Amino acid sequence: MTTIENFGENVSFQPQGIYFPENVDELLQLMSDHPESQFRAIGSLHSWSDVTITTGVLLNLKNIDSVTITERGTVVVGAGCQIKNLLAALSKKKMTLPSVGLIAEQTVAGATATGTHGSGRNSLSHYIRSVSIAHFDEDGRPVISTVDSGTELLAARCSLGLMGVIFELELEIRPEYSIEEHGRHHSTLNSIFEMEKTYPLQQFYLMPWSWSYFAHHRRETEISASRFTWVYRIYRLFVVDVLLHIVAMFLARFFRFKWAIRFFYRAVLPFTIIRNWKVADRSTNQLTMNHHWFRHLEIELFVRREKLPTAMDFLMDALKVFADQKSSFSKVINERLTALGIEKELENARGRYCHHFPICTRRIMEDETLLSMACGNGSEKPECDQRPTEGDRDWFAISLISFQHPSDRDGFFAFANFIGPCFAQFFGGRSHWGKYNQLSHETNLRLYPRLDEFREVIRRFDPEGRFQNKWLDRTVGQTES
Ligand SMILES: Cc1cc2nc3c(=O)[nH]c(=O)nc-3n(C[C@H](O)[C@H](O)[C@H](O)COP(=O)(O)OP(=O)(O)OC[C@H]3O[C@@H](n4cnc5c(N)ncnc54)[C@H](O)[C@@H]3O)c2cc1C
Repeated sequence: MTTIENFGENVSFQPQGIYFPENVDELLQLMSDHPESQFRAIGSLHSWSDVTITTGVLLNLKNIDSVTITERGTVVVGAGCQIKNLLAALSKKKMTLPSVGLIAEQTVAGATATGTHGSGRNSLSHYIRSVSIAHFDEDGRPVISTVDSGTELLAARCSLGLMGVIFELELEIRPEYSIEEHGRHHSTLNSIFEMEKTYPLQQFYLMPWSWSYFAHHRRETEISASRFTWVYRIYRLFVVDVLLHIVAMFLARFFRFKWAIRFFYRAVLPFTIIRNWKVADRSTNQLTMNHHWFRHLEIELFVRREKLPTAMDFLMDALKVFADQKSSFSKVINERLTALGIEKELENARGRYCHHFPICTRRIMEDETLLSMACGNGSEKPECDQRPTEGDRDWFAISLISFQHPSDRDGFFAFANFIGPCFAQFFGGRSHWGKYNQLSHETNLRLYPRLDEFREVIRRFDPEGRFQNKWLDRTVGQTES
């Protein structure tokens, strides 16, 4: 039996078989050849959650990857096409995607199935116009459906592979554009928010142990590239993509002394960051990096704008407590933790994990989907007193990355198992479906008011639960009829 392992080396499983269909007919044949089996489709296996696991039939659609630009200003793309190949094909026609994440290694179906996002726009899922899916009917026969409207489209835009095997998607595209970027230090979140109107594509980083912020202020520009863009690219490649990652990995794996990590963030890193240098470059160059060159593990937490300041304060306290026996939470938080009955667990976790990478925070506009992390809250009103103004409905995604060795991640898991549920409980915080995520379906039912509608659609597309797995049972809930 073949063992399948994900990018982060935190998920491995043995499917009964793995197949690479070349076209839809082969896909349907495979589905009817395995009448008793469970199925799961995979993309590039870049998810850290257990979303890809199956002991049944594993389908890799990397051979179904055609790209066709339509006259409607959209692209029809095979599910297994990697985002980087789609971007390259679009670029030949001077077009691009409206939203991309930090890397472009994922497949189109894989990225959209978990609500993959960048900063300042919606998640990629939001831009899906139609989805073609191979699934089973009530008699267990494989059938094909194309969904392009209504609740079914909202479900299919971010479906976690539960609706069936997606073999083709139609996505919105836009003309290629350039982004001007510059970096600046900030001591408060408010000062970053103030820049948002001018730099709507910005993202920022909470620097651990100096507890200050560094923002990449970004906006669209008419200038396609600056004179010294090439120097900036080299700087980013060597200093950010390579050096910063090597140091973080080194600190996490070999220098287990907390003072070394703190010293690096307080006294070394600030002097390596270039500030206020405004550089324009093509959007794909500015928005993506080579983060996938170094193996890591990640949890990402989503909160509404009005919750972000208190959520950040809580996160800082939690990181201090996990790294240092001496730190403690504020009285209010302590009372809330006591009410949850988890102070004992926390006591055991003290000093077990020292965070060692900048905490990237990105703004995502509210998606029109049922289940992506940035989807709306149904009819729920925002918690601020005033009428919602533009941007009140935005989500902020906070990502925490660990470079510890795969065999030495207990401290990170303890931290992630604490912070995910606390964010859900205290701030209505959601966890990324494609990143480490252990929230229960009871919690998710509260966080995603349209989860029931999602399950209802799944029941129609997969009446026997053939695309379920144990993790999905736990996080989304049972979906069979
Ligand atoms: C280095 C790195 C950087 C990342 N950066 C970002 C980021 O910037 N923003 C962000 O939001 N996320 C990010 N992620 C997370 C990543 O985008 C998601 O986990 C994404 O789902 C991975 O896509 P994949 O093609 O590898 O899919 P997989 O991980 O293989 O699968 C993910 C899901 O897609 C489903 N699926 C795949 N193909 C099909 C299909 N044909 N039909 C039906 N279902 C299918 C699977 O069943 C599974 O549920 C990053 C991950 C890594 C490793």
